[in-house]
Amino acid sequence: MEPLLNYVGGKFVPARDERTREFLNPADNSVLGLATESDAADAAAAVAAARAAFDEGPWPATPPPERAARLFRLADLIEANAEEFSRRDTLNNGKPRREARFDAADTAACFRYYAGLATKPHGQTFELSDPNMTSMTVREPVGVCGQIIPWNYPLLMAAWKLAPALAAGNCCILKPSELTPWSAQLLFQLIDEVGFPPGAVQLLYGAGDPVGSALAASERVDKIAFTGGTATGRKIMQAATGNLKRVTLELGGKSPIVMFADVDPDVAVEYALFGIFAGQGEVCNAGSRLFLERALADKILPRLAAAAAKIAVGPGLDETSEMGPLVSRAHQQKVLGYIAGGREVGATLLTGGESYADHRAAGNFVPPTIFTDVPPDAKIWREEIFGPVLCVDTFETEEEAIRKANDTPYGLAGAVFTKDGSRAQRVIRRLRAGVTWINTFHFTFNEVPWGGFKMSGFGRELGPHGYDAYTEVKQITTHLAPAPLGWFRHLG
Ligand code: NAD
Repeated sequence: MEPLLNYVGGKFVPARDERTREFLNPADNSVLGLATESDAADAAAAVAAARAAFDEGPWPATPPPERAARLFRLADLIEANAEEFSRRDTLNNGKPRREARFDAADTAACFRYYAGLATKPHGQTFELSDPNMTSMTVREPVGVCGQIIPWNYPLLMAAWKLAPALAAGNCCILKPSELTPWSAQLLFQLIDEVGFPPGAVQLLYGAGDPVGSALAASERVDKIAFTGGTATGRKIMQAATGNLKRVTLELGGKSPIVMFADVDPDVAVEYALFGIFAGQGEVCNAGSRLFLERALADKILPRLAAAAAKIAVGPGLDETSEMGPLVSRAHQQKVLGYIAGGREVGATLLTGGESYADHRAAGNFVPPTIFTDVPPDAKIWREEIFGPVLCVDTFETEEEAIRKANDTPYGLAGAVFTKDGSRAQRVIRRLRAGVTWINTFHFTFNEVPWGGFKMSGFGRELGPHGYDAYTEVKQITTHLAPAPLGWFRHLG
């Protein structure tokens, strides 16, 4: 089996000591392939290639329309290969094929969005208090960017990182999760086909530590963009202090969905399920805490449990599957551990909870699981489970809903459902979260910023903010009538 290779300085290369790591199909834990397994020296070589390309190479100096042309071409190639991308992400991550198809389309759109933005105005001019002077700002690329991504959206997270960074003229090193390396290989084959200058963009396979940690600590890296767990984010921030590199962190969440009693029960049931069970709940903004106004809870809870139990759980490649397996056996065990913990502390299990004993036993399946009556200090209530586990609570008043929704150290996302427009605005403006929805959930657009409050991280991806995050602002001030200053008396 030929391993997937790193891409460094415009060439596909194995890691120096030629070690490899298997990657698996979580639907049955069979081996899909091997990826080369880098170490800190490979990371240093990738950084050196990016550094040279940034400091001496053509990419940062390439006119924006030419950078845009390459990214548009890449988007076209991604679209042409969308079926293969979705097949790889479904097989390697486990997600249902229809979700992986959605990711592939969104990936092409993300490259197009930032290709377009590359050529738009980014500077400003300033009127100064001295009429002989004028000042303007320009935006310049940050430099060498280490981009570390998780396993839940293997292709799409690569796009969220690479598209704005390359559009702005940075040189990049992408490190995918060691669990889901497959789609990145195809992406870099297409990058190679488009023909970026050598060193403009590298792919580096390997473990978080030593490879991701080497990028975070390297004083030759100017920025780390990270999506992943909160504990890892904290380590990256600490490692980044040496050269005070720029850091953006997109971390976990425990996002609330608040539904008032005026919501159509059909809408309430479907969005509650969609909020937590799309992507098997392995979604950073998953709506894992559901707050129902008491009257609505009485109406929909039995329906919610029955509908969750009917979700078709199976291998993602099976087009009838609505929920796939979790990414790994270890993660499945972690999620089942949370569920067991919830039962032990006396939460009421409405549905789910047990892993499957049928043909799905070889895979990492966890059924849609719903708890009510969860003690407020229970781990399932407070911690990010990152799996198909919903905790439901009720409320009587708007104030109570807001207080409970905000009672979490996280602040990635949140939503309110109600037909009362004023109430929707009141509630949403008080939610302490970076991504919010009224009467919908999950839908994410390349045009608007994405990122968290509180322990869900900082910095924004997507939209113009996501482009700005890959730039430094430079002030350029000009004297319009230069003449001797007369500052030093001896100069006359
Ligand atoms: P993780 O933090 O374990 O890994 C994420 C990436 O970081 C992987 O590439 C991993 O190899 C790397 N890594 C691990 N240790 C490292 C270290 N010490 N230094 C540098 N890099 C290191 O997370 P995961 O288990 O892959 O993903 C799940 C987590 O990601 C969840 O907590 C979820 O909330 C979060 N997530 C957040 C978002 C978001 O947009 N906010 C999106 C997706 C996932």
